[in-house]
Amino acid sequence: MPHTIVVRFSEVTLKGRNRPLFERQMVRNVSRHLDAHGEFRLQRDSARLVVELNQPPHTAVEILRGLPGVANLSVAELVPREPEPLTEAVLAHAAARLEAVPPLEARSLPFRVEVSRKDKRYPLTSMELAARLGAALMERFEGLRVDLERPEFTVWVEIWERGAALYAEKIPGPGGLAVGSSGTVLCLLSGGIDSPVAAYLMMTRGAPVVFLNFHSFPFIGERSKEKVHELVRFLARYQPESRLCFAPFAKAQEAIRDRCPEGLRTVLYRRMMNRVANRLAGRVGALALVTGESLGQVASQTLENIRAIEDTAELPVLQPLIGMSKPEIIAVARRIGTYEISIQPFPDCCTLFQPRKPETRAKIERLARAESALPIEELVEECLAGIETSEYGPLYFPAEW
Ligand code: ATP
Ligand code: MG
Repeated sequence: MPHTIVVRFSEVTLKGRNRPLFERQMVRNVSRHLDAHGEFRLQRDSARLVVELNQPPHTAVEILRGLPGVANLSVAELVPREPEPLTEAVLAHAAARLEAVPPLEARSLPFRVEVSRKDKRYPLTSMELAARLGAALMERFEGLRVDLERPEFTVWVEIWERGAALYAEKIPGPGGLAVGSSGTVLCLLSGGIDSPVAAYLMMTRGAPVVFLNFHSFPFIGERSKEKVHELVRFLARYQPESRLCFAPFAKAQEAIRDRCPEGLRTVLYRRMMNRVANRLAGRVGALALVTGESLGQVASQTLENIRAIEDTAELPVLQPLIGMSKPEIIAVARRIGTYEISIQPFPDCCTLFQPRKPETRAKIERLARAESALPIEELVEECLAGIETSEYGPLYFPAEW
């Protein structure tokens, strides 16, 4: 296979039993994500993975640079490793790359050769080989000047058992853990900016994320649902399997509107969501709920309200954004590609029957009293029974990718 990508794993400092688990999961994820994109072969080598491909590596690079657990990757050229032919190959490799930089005669270009030996039986030390290749490069290309501290041009050379790998750069990945090396979580996904970021952050800590959205069709239009589909299809590039559950919420919201104090509505909606989520989590094997709460971001995101909402979830409610500011959250949303989808102006169910003056410090006793007017069990069961599910593999790749 003519094309090679070297993928380096992050968190290589993981200790003990976690590490082989993480690395095996990484191999599974990489194969799953590359499956639809032509033939490939994988070779694991401690904290790295060598991917060989028949087709040009562009698409594979775009997929792999987004995968949680990838520290960085390089597109490598495999050449013979004996010093003579290796030197020739390095000269040819440099010539191809230097064509792209402005003519060398006019200036000097600081460069370095970075050698690492994966096979320590190689007859030359890394230093010796780097010196030899560096000298050959300077002899061939006038204007190259060694600068180990601040090179503008680096030739990376790795000595493997079966040859040498040459590459130009290390393309950074997101780091973190391989999805699947932690337990599953259920993310309450609205169509907003925050919850997709919360889901993504959990993926980078190794947790497979199942998505749950509450919608108030027919009060809120189909486009809001389509937007949530779009978000999940997009996030599906970061984990091997994605499942989206849509829960019908209009009935519960009407009951809350008709029977409970107006100011408590928003908190009551969220308490009801948690009851449903808690039940669904048991069915999908999730060990925790995840929300996009950020302390104080909106007037209702007070600790009092957050506590009152959590009160109805038996499982831990993880809030990975709790200490982040809005600009920080937006920066992540832009980087992972969900921002543009989230800002489409289609309303979330929480805007339905919005109170004129929402309670910002809801007391649990008062909420419980209000809820005594509701057929809670019936509403939760009906909502659960109406759930529709969609599955997305990592195959989905929009045209612009
Ligand atoms: P987001 O940007 O994620 O919508 P937000 O800042 O708008 O968050 P809220 O509307 O108070 O904040 O919602 C807080 C959290 O509650 C959301 O991040 C999400 O986890 C959950 N949530 C809100 N509405 C829904 C919904 N319709 N379906 C599922 N989860 C929801
Ligand atoms: Mg929202």
